[in-house]
Amino acid sequence: MKVIVQKFGGTSVATPDVRAKAVQKVINARKSGYHPVVVVSAMGRNGAPYATDTLIALAKNEHVDTHPRELDLLMSCGEIISSVIMVNALRAKGYEAVALTGGQAGIITDNNFGSANILRINPDRIYMYLEMGKIPVVAGFQGVTEGGDITTLGRGGSDTTAAALGKALSASFVEIYTDVDGIMTADPRLVPNATVLKHLTYSEVFQMADQGAKVIHPKAVEIAMSCSIPLIIKNINGNGPGTIVSSYDEGNYAQDTEYDPNQVVTSISHMLNRTQVLIENVNPEFQNIILSRLAENGISIDLINVFPDKMIFTIDGNDADKAKSIFEPLMCRYSMIHNCSKISAIGNRMRGVPGVMARVLKALVKNQIQVLQTADSHTTISCLIKGEDTAKALMALHDEFKLHAR
Ligand code: ADP
Ligand code: ASP
Ligand code: MG
Repeated sequence: MKVIVQKFGGTSVATPDVRAKAVQKVINARKSGYHPVVVVSAMGRNGAPYATDTLIALAKNEHVDTHPRELDLLMSCGEIISSVIMVNALRAKGYEAVALTGGQAGIITDNNFGSANILRINPDRIYMYLEMGKIPVVAGFQGVTEGGDITTLGRGGSDTTAAALGKALSASFVEIYTDVDGIMTADPRLVPNATVLKHLTYSEVFQMADQGAKVIHPKAVEIAMSCSIPLIIKNINGNGPGTIVSSYDEGNYAQDTEYDPNQVVTSISHMLNRTQVLIENVNPEFQNIILSRLAENGISIDLINVFPDKMIFTIDGNDADKAKSIFEPLMCRYSMIHNCSKISAIGNRMRGVPGVMARVLKALVKNQIQVLQTADSHTTISCLIKGEDTAKALMALHDEFKLHAR
């Protein structure tokens, strides 16, 4: 049985018109001899009645902190609603389909509510429906614990569901339908002349996603990489080839007219709403205590620079109040710069090439963008800047590395 997974993101299931396009993609797959398994996100974006952000806002109305277990239960409803609507859309075209929650699809997770990890998938029920000729439509972004509690997989987690089902079903490939033409050199909302990258390796896309490119969830990339299942990211509104993400293969690259071995930077990612934290007058022992407290409270830190008597790092802006409540009882001297952005230049061929950081800094300085902090690895160079400079900085780096259509 040739199984494929087709995932439709929030905007790809938002209206009857766009759902009709999604249904057509499923029908085309059937006509090409595949057995599609559909994964859906909650319908629409923030403000749409059943979108995830709308459900989160609903929980905030009572002015108490919603318990993570209950928040997951609430958030999971968005995808469940979407799965039923999608089943109806398929049935209206004469295709028998069946809606499944993550748990009904056999997705078992740990109980790390809000960001649960998939422990295993029992695909028996999905296979049963496929053998009956029905199209399973799985609610993305969710699973169930051994104890029966519903969990969610982290924001953007329907991609993770799609990749994990692809792996469990040994799918030929996983298609991710969204509202852009594929994975691009930068977020096209901020960089209007960003271009589609036709072929990328798992590791390049993982870096992009890990550094904030929302177009795909980093966990989905990791899962697909672990079993070498190709991921294809496509626009729901069109028939373009999109981006193929697979293992490194000279053959694939050679076919790409865009391929240029001298191109050290291939994309620019960004992360909004970062808070830079400076803690002064702290010895190494005290630094360890602070870092442990942050970890115990689930606050992840990034861009970490430790000196003998101070340290600097960044956290998600949403964690700033929690971090303050950790620092204050410890009486540490701290200051925070809110609303920063982390901009990252990414490229597998950056490895060992001198002068890339100099080009990054030169491009930012030339555009009067203040750099608050930097970090680098073999394949990324990241700069922390003020949030208001985000679009300007992305465009400056995009131009510097000539990422517009060549
Ligand atoms: P979906 O609901 O389909 O999962 P998302 O909003 O999660 O959609 O992801 C798609 C969005 O990702 C695009 O609308 C785009 O603004 C954003 N994005 C960020 N970085 C990139 C990039 N490098 N390439 C393409 N899109 C990107
Ligand atoms: N609906 C969830 C979210 O907005 C999951 C997803 O869209 O992938 O995060
Ligand atoms: Mg998404």
